[in-house]
Amino acid sequence: TTHLVWFRNDLRITDNRALHAACEDLHAKVIALFIATPKQWQQHVMAPRQAAFIYQHVQALQASLAERGIPLFYHQCDDFAASNAWLKEFCAEQKVSALFYNRQYEINERERDAALEKLISGEITCRSFDDSLLLPPGSVTTGEGSMYKVYTPFRRAFLERLTESDSRSLPAPQARDIDGEVKLHALTPFDHPQQEIGDDFPIGEEAARDRLRRFCREQVQDYLEQRDLPAIDGTSSLSPYLAIGVLSPRQCFNRLRTECPDVLERRDGGAFGWLNELVWREFYRHLLVAWPMLCKHRPFIDWTDNVRWRHAPEDLQAWKEGKTGYPIVDAAMRQLNATGWMHNRLRMIVASFLVKDLLIDWREGERYFMSQLLDGDLAANNGGWQWGASTGTDAAPYFRIFNPTTQGERFDKAGRFIKAWVPELTDVPEKGIHQPHQWAEKAQRVLDYPQPVIDHSTARKDTLAAFEAAKRGN
Ligand code: FAD
Repeated sequence: TTHLVWFRNDLRITDNRALHAACEDLHAKVIALFIATPKQWQQHVMAPRQAAFIYQHVQALQASLAERGIPLFYHQCDDFAASNAWLKEFCAEQKVSALFYNRQYEINERERDAALEKLISGEITCRSFDDSLLLPPGSVTTGEGSMYKVYTPFRRAFLERLTESDSRSLPAPQARDIDGEVKLHALTPFDHPQQEIGDDFPIGEEAARDRLRRFCREQVQDYLEQRDLPAIDGTSSLSPYLAIGVLSPRQCFNRLRTECPDVLERRDGGAFGWLNELVWREFYRHLLVAWPMLCKHRPFIDWTDNVRWRHAPEDLQAWKEGKTGYPIVDAAMRQLNATGWMHNRLRMIVASFLVKDLLIDWREGERYFMSQLLDGDLAANNGGWQWGASTGTDAAPYFRIFNPTTQGERFDKAGRFIKAWVPELTDVPEKGIHQPHQWAEKAQRVLDYPQPVIDHSTARKDTLAAFEAAKRGN
C-alpha cells in the first residue's frame, strides 16, 4: 500500500492530522506532495512575499520529511482544475492506494476537493481531516443548529465545546523504515512573483514554535495592556505561520495552557485575551463555511451594497503609498508595504480611513491587503474588512467612525511608531506629531509631508449620509 499526503495549507510535520494518519500503518509506503498553482494564486491576489514564504517552507518541509523517510514530490501547474487532472495521473503512476489531506474551507478549494474525490472515487480512498481550526466549521451552532451571527455567544458556545473536545497536539511521525536515503531536490521557483522576506519571520516550524513558547512564557501576561500599542512588540506575530499552517491553532492553545494552566478559568487576564483572538480566527472561518458568498466578496449586510462609493483613484493611491497626510495611517501603510505585516490596531485604523474617510469600496482595501500581506488569509482579511466597513456580521455599526487623529493620539501618543516609519516627521515634537502641519505653521517650519487628503469632519458627514441613503434604499 502507498499512502499519499497532499500538503496544501499545512506546511508542517508536527501536529498534522493528515500526515499522522497516513503514517499510522507502519508497513505502508508514505509519500508526500505539494502542488503550486500560480495562476490560481494570481486570481487570489497572493502577495509575492507570501509566495516566497510558502516556497521556503516547502523546501524546509522537504528536508524534514526526508529525515523521516518520506519523499516530497513537487509539481507546478496553472490552476486547481489542472492540478486535479495531474493528480489523478500521478496517483496511478505511484500506485497510490489512499490519499490523505487536511481540509481547506474557501469555496474554490472546497470545489476542487469535491471534484477530485469524484474523479478518483472507486480507485483511491480519500481521507480528509479538519486540522486548521480548534473546532471544525459547523460544530458550534445555536440551539436551532445554525451558525452564530454574533461573536460573543459564538465564543461562549465555542469555549464550552472546546473544553469537551480532544485538542491535544499530535507528534511528528517517526522515521520510517525504508531502503536507502531520500534524496533532496532543488524546487523549481514558482511562476508567481516572489519578494524577499525580512528577518522578522525566520523560516521553519521550529522558529515558529520557539516564538510561540517565548510569547506564552514571557509576554502573554501583558497582552491586554500592550496589544493595542503598535510601537511595542506586544502581540505574538505568529499570523504568517498560522496562515500557511507552519503552526497549528492546537499547538497555540496547548502551549498557552501549559504556560497558563488557568487560562479558561481566569477570564480577565492576558492569556484569555490572547485565546480570544484565536477564537476570532475560528469565528471568521466558521462564517466562511456557513456563508460561502463571503468568499465571493459579497457583503454580509445586503443593503450596504447600495452605498455609493467614491471613485477616487488618486486618494486610493495615496492610501496605498502611505501619503494621506494622516501620520498614523501613513506609518501603518508604510509598515505594510515594507514588511508585509501590520499591527491589528493599525489594520482597523487604515480600514476605517479608507472606507469611512475616503468612502472607497472596502473591497479595494481587502484586495490591496491580500496583495501585500505575509499573513494573507481570506477569512481573517474579509472578516476584518467587513468589520471595519460595517458591512459584516457583528461589525462595527456604520455610524461608529474612527477619528484617525485621535486614534493616533490614543495608541501612539509620543509618535514613536509614526517616527519609525515616516522619516519626514522625525523633527516634529510629540505635541505636534498627530497634526504636523498645524505644528509646522505655528513653528514656521516647512514640512516635506503631504497635506491631509481629506478633512475628517466633512468626510464623516458625507459617509454617514452615504450609508443612510443606502439603508433607505436610494
Ligand atoms: P496576535 O494578537 O498575537 O493574535 C494571535 C493570532 O490570532 C493571530 O496570529 C491570528 O492568527 C489570530 N487573530 C488575531 N486577531 C484576529 C482577528 N481580528 N481576526 C482573525 N484572526 C485573528 N489576520 C490574518 O491572519 N490574516 C489577514 O489577512 C488579516 N487581515 C486583516 C484585515 C483587517 C482589516 C483587520 C482589521 C484584521 C486582519 N487580520 C488578519 C487580523 C489581525 O489583524 C492579525 O491576525 C494580527 O494582527 C496578527 O498579528 P499577531 O500574530 O501578532 O496577532
